[in-house]
Amino acid sequence: MSSAFSVPVPGSVGPAPAARHPKPKLIGGFLAAIITLHLLALTAFLPYVFSWWGVASLLVTNFIFGSIGINLAYHRLLTHRAVEFPLWLERVFTLCGVCCLEGSPLWWVMNHRVHHQKSDHDGDPHSPRESFFWGHMGWIYIHDAERYRLATYEKYVPDLMADPFHRWLHRGNKWVLVYLAHALLIAAAGFAVGFAVMDTTAEAVRLGVQVFVWGVVVRTVYVLHISLAVNSFAHRFGYRNYETTDESRNNWWVALLTNGEGWHNNHHAAPRTCSQGHRWWELDLTFTFVRALELVGLAKNVVPVKVASYKQMGGAE
Ligand SMILES: [Zn+2]
Ligand SMILES: [Zn+2]
Repeated sequence: MSSAFSVPVPGSVGPAPAARHPKPKLIGGFLAAIITLHLLALTAFLPYVFSWWGVASLLVTNFIFGSIGINLAYHRLLTHRAVEFPLWLERVFTLCGVCCLEGSPLWWVMNHRVHHQKSDHDGDPHSPRESFFWGHMGWIYIHDAERYRLATYEKYVPDLMADPFHRWLHRGNKWVLVYLAHALLIAAAGFAVGFAVMDTTAEAVRLGVQVFVWGVVVRTVYVLHISLAVNSFAHRFGYRNYETTDESRNNWWVALLTNGEGWHNNHHAAPRTCSQGHRWWELDLTFTFVRALELVGLAKNVVPVKVASYKQMGGAE
């Protein structure tokens, strides 16, 4: 994994003036990791690895890691402060996001705050206006030295920079180690269950392999693509409830797969609002989960829908 995601240590020597606008360069290690994961994910179609319970498990694991880790922790909590949790729960949810291999919280939140400020205009890290592939995943393994400077982090994520937990995860790419550790744990659990319940060693090993491929590899690739689909598909295809200054769209199938993040035009109209479904039928299970936590006293200060600063389009309630 490249060190491109590392935050320069405050006080360290910065780049020479001549290197302040270098050409973006490929993060080879990250690209190699992404390609390897995609190739490994294809093994899920082999008869030895395929299983219908593996397919069904994606519903649960996507909710735990994708919806709670990325949608709720990385996005609505850390980026937009749309809700508050006890610190221990915030950490647990954040670590679920780290286990999605979508970068450190510092890196993810910085990019997303820049996206909201410059959405579909110059400086947007991942607008599909450049090209659909760029908006989907071309941008994630390109190191933009201008954007990934210490000054950019200080400007966009001073709150997370002040938190030793986030600095620890980010420096030296320790978030990657957390990802690898969780992958090993899930694989070990799969093999342990296999040897406990199966009659033969061959059956036990097969179960361990299946748990690893479906519980780690396929789930990582699946969550990655549906997260990225918000940046690509939901900035090009779908309907708009609000006249925003970007190309954001409400895309129903992205919303269903991501448990709510696809109502992206709503989100751009009211970024701090915790619920991304604004009409009664715009299902947002991530927000339903927040409501459940609120009922048992684990969530508070949930930011309500506020879109007064945007002109609503005709027909929107
Ligand atoms: Zn957007
Ligand atoms: Zn956002």
